[in-house]
Amino acid sequence: MNAEIIAVGTELLLGQILNTNAQYLSTKLSELGINVFFQTVVGDNNQRLRETLGNALRKTDIVILTGGLGPTKDDLTKETIAEIMGLPLELHQDSLERIKDFFSRINRKMSKNNEKQAMLPKGSIVLPNDHGTAPGCIIENDDKIIVMLPGPPKEMQPMFQQSVYPFLREKSPYIIHSRVLRIFGIGESSLEEKLSDLFEKQNNPTIAPYAKQGEVTLRITAKCEDIETAEKLIAPVEAEIRNRLGITVYGMEEESLEEVACRLLMEKNVSVATAESCTGGMLGEKITSISGISACYHMGFITYSNEAKAELLGVSQETLKQYGAVSSQTAVEMADGVRRKANADIGISITGIAGPGGGSEEKPVGLVYIGMSTREKSWFKELHLVGNRERIRNMTTMNAFDMIRKYLLNYPDEQDSFARGEC
Ligand code: AMP
Ligand code: MG
Repeated sequence: MNAEIIAVGTELLLGQILNTNAQYLSTKLSELGINVFFQTVVGDNNQRLRETLGNALRKTDIVILTGGLGPTKDDLTKETIAEIMGLPLELHQDSLERIKDFFSRINRKMSKNNEKQAMLPKGSIVLPNDHGTAPGCIIENDDKIIVMLPGPPKEMQPMFQQSVYPFLREKSPYIIHSRVLRIFGIGESSLEEKLSDLFEKQNNPTIAPYAKQGEVTLRITAKCEDIETAEKLIAPVEAEIRNRLGITVYGMEEESLEEVACRLLMEKNVSVATAESCTGGMLGEKITSISGISACYHMGFITYSNEAKAELLGVSQETLKQYGAVSSQTAVEMADGVRRKANADIGISITGIAGPGGGSEEKPVGLVYIGMSTREKSWFKELHLVGNRERIRNMTTMNAFDMIRKYLLNYPDEQDSFARGEC
């Protein structure tokens, strides 16, 4: 089955609001195994809405409209659709009672034009609105389905979930089930190279890569009758991908790199302390966004100046003079220093040149050192990052979490594993 989504509203065409309804509905329809062929936006205009619906019905089985179910004159979706389908509008007593109830609940007087919202196309399936006044409706005509939903997302989404989803579930013989693998430390192009044969022969499940800042996600999607069958189709492909990408697969679904690293810290009961220069507390901020991490994180320093690095962390003047603040030696001394100061299991430090100024030929913008100190040994990672200040700081923080993760998984740190420009 295939579908078109039509968002109705002149405010959408004027750019005053973003068409988030289309995004929401597309995601949901894809879960239901329904192919969305078109997304359209049309203004509050009878003639153009008629044309749009006519076209949609010629091309697709299901048409879902949002917006234009309000009480005012410019809300004309229902009237226009009913007219095209040759269905009169009838008063739906239940809906009228609900609208009256809604107004008494919010302690406001119902205006006369709200009654118009209880007028629905004859024979349609009425969709109650628990979060507003406009009911939605479904018209089934021959082999076509037309769904009308209110515009406000906080009304539209629960209505879709409660009433339309189960209705369409019955109609669609397929489900679409996905597994998302999250990958860090390998660029999209090398990933494609490693998996090119899998990409070429993909059919069911399909594999789709998506690159976000610093990481790549791979969505493995199966289309079949039920979840169990989908899982069986996905499992061998997932295993093969994991086998080829190894440690770079850090998580699944929505779990972020910092969540994975902090979860490992908590599971293994390992304490950590941070010393940051160019990230100015970003690492500490991300660590403290994880609930329950106070069991593992006690202390973080922002040591921006050389003096602070020396005084607070004990970085030696010789090191600072001989190698400079941005150096592997300083990074390691910072990590050692903060670990000792906090009496933590891990000390992690960051020092680098975030730009856009401050770079030199020898130490260009994007050169960053992350130091790691444990009770047994200390080491560092040298990064050559590209991009603006924000990106360099973000990527540095992600790399720090990745180092924590790899250490906790007993994975030997591959120093300088990032090719220049790849990350
Ligand atoms: P309407 O049902 O056309 O009166 O829409 C009422 C309100 O819902 C609009 O003013 C928007 O704030 C919101 N809205 C309508 N259509 C959309 C859409 N496609 N995406 C997101 N919000 C919408
Ligand atoms: Mg409108």
